[in-house]
Amino acid sequence: MVYKGVDLLRDTFVEINLDSLKDNIKNIKERVGENVSIAAVVKSDGYGHGAVEIGKILIENGASHLAVATLTEALELRNVYENIKIFIMGYTPDSHLRIAAEKNIDMTIFSIHQARLLNEIGEILDKKPVVHIKYDTGFNRLGYKDCNESIVEISEIVKLDNLNVEGIFSHFALAGNESNHKQFNDFIKAVEAIEATGFIFKYKHICDSIAAIDYPEFNLDMVRTGAILYGMKSFRFRDIDLKSVMSFKTKIYHVKTLKIGEGVSYNFKWKAKRDSVIATIPVGYSDGLPRNMADVGMVTIKGKRAPLVGVICMDQCMVDITDLKDAQVGDEVIIFDDGTGNSLTVGEFSKLGNTNKNEILTRITRRTPRVYIKNNKIHKIVDYLIGDSLYEY
Ligand SMILES: *Cc1c(COP(=O)(O)O)cnc(C)c1O
Repeated sequence: MVYKGVDLLRDTFVEINLDSLKDNIKNIKERVGENVSIAAVVKSDGYGHGAVEIGKILIENGASHLAVATLTEALELRNVYENIKIFIMGYTPDSHLRIAAEKNIDMTIFSIHQARLLNEIGEILDKKPVVHIKYDTGFNRLGYKDCNESIVEISEIVKLDNLNVEGIFSHFALAGNESNHKQFNDFIKAVEAIEATGFIFKYKHICDSIAAIDYPEFNLDMVRTGAILYGMKSFRFRDIDLKSVMSFKTKIYHVKTLKIGEGVSYNFKWKAKRDSVIATIPVGYSDGLPRNMADVGMVTIKGKRAPLVGVICMDQCMVDITDLKDAQVGDEVIIFDDGTGNSLTVGEFSKLGNTNKNEILTRITRRTPRVYIKNNKIHKIVDYLIGDSLYEY
């Protein structure tokens, strides 16, 4: 796909390897087994990978649901995918429940008030809205507090005629092995108490990516995996073969030589300690390169690492290429990828930026086009700003 002979109209872009994504979801499915459903977590635009573009691959290769955080994320997917299960794991305000029900979106609730509202909406729409009950075993974010009153209330909710209570779930704080076991046991105890009334939940679930792999014995009926789909690993006890899906790249736009003592960027926070060669690259904090990468960040050019120097600007930053003898304008710059070729992985990159891998992935902004690779070829370009009308296939 090209525009009048050039590949892209922006040289800063992310590459999304759909073959790697497919291998990952297949491996995860094989690991959790036939009896465990996978809610593929594609919130925040599929952790920056493009929820709409990757949704089909995830569903075709082992996921039963696409899970998101907000109603608008769910609606974005529903506009494209008419018949797949879409699940909002976050809170949906009362005033938004009806549209979610109309669009057949599975919701999370944790009050009898919302259960009754949805029950009424179900009656009006002549359908049974699907919900999962959120049960809080200590994370203290969303959900029914773990106590008897909650169990009594949930036991009433499951009796409502126009509501399809498909699931009940909790979330690990991942605060250590002992606390994970306690959360799991508290969850199971509560579920058993509710199910003792005769009702059976189709999906009981508590595992995110890390827990799904580290604690297969906690997988229950479903796992909600995000990070591992994209090849991110943070396990403590076990491992699984995964490939990094996203690469973040740009190009050198300008090269200049500096005399010893000359400054670079705002406030001259960085000054040349020797005569230096400095390259400018068109990527800044508004593209997802954190501002706190100044002085600690590195990029890779022709297999060699080079430090970012000076304050990171909104749209550009500078690289000290004094030790890279043959770097020049037009050269490819790897910000992160799978780490082959001496480049930084997302993991290394996020450590330098003092954050986690998911934050780095989700920080990539709209301005950065997504280039989808399939069978080692460009499959599609998604440019959120200009669409693909300017490109020719
Ligand atoms: C984001 C999220 C997940 C997925 O987390 P990962 O660590 O990326 O697997 C699972 N469950 C809930 C409730 C979430 O909000």
